[in-house]
Amino acid sequence: MEVPKSKKELAILLSRVRGYTSPKAELEQYVTPSEIASRLIWAAYERGRIVGKNVCDLGAGTGILIIGAMLLGARRGYAVEKDPDAIEDLKRNLSAFGLERRVEIVEADVSDVELRVDTVVMNPPYGVQRKGASLPFLIKATEIGECVYMIVPRGLLEEKRAILEDRGFGIEFVEEDWMELPPTYPWHDSRMYRFRVCLVGFAK
Ligand code: SAH
Repeated sequence: MEVPKSKKELAILLSRVRGYTSPKAELEQYVTPSEIASRLIWAAYERGRIVGKNVCDLGAGTGILIIGAMLLGARRGYAVEKDPDAIEDLKRNLSAFGLERRVEIVEADVSDVELRVDTVVMNPPYGVQRKGASLPFLIKATEIGECVYMIVPRGLLEEKRAILEDRGFGIEFVEEDWMELPPTYPWHDSRMYRFRVCLVGFAK
């Protein structure tokens, strides 16, 4: 597959990533919209964080972030996910992009991962269902990576920044966007669920 030449081209490719077959609310399983995924991965790419690098996606879900990184030239990918149903969706998407041999699936809780990579990408649970759900993701990212590109609701950026700064990571990129999610769950009554997010890159 040819390397996408723009953020737009990458977003179009990523729009082919299929969603969860059986989404689980307690794990906050939402697929990052392709435009936001593309914008985040492109920002990492522009800062030399993707090409030839080993990249790990913590809480990979259906794989949109790691697929984006691989399409832009990451060397090797690791997709960490603990839900076996999501892993089936992930496998199908990796195969559809011909990436099944370049991305290793790690079926585990993020806390149990032992890897060293250059770059971590993630859209961790925001802690809506279970407060503190994102903390293991932040801690693991700083343990295994040189940098982490992630998505956070805008109102939580300062809290996350403080945690990462304590661990020696500072912001190298930040941009705002709207996250729009379709109503995946019965209690999402509105047509689209819309909130402000920050796309942010932290590095050592
Ligand atoms: N990265 C994907 C999915 C985000 S949703 C995307 O951007 O579209 C968060 C994912 O993390 C879900 O698939 C959920 O099953 C997984 N997850 C939640 N807690 C986890 C944990 N402790 N360890 C591993 N995976 C976890």
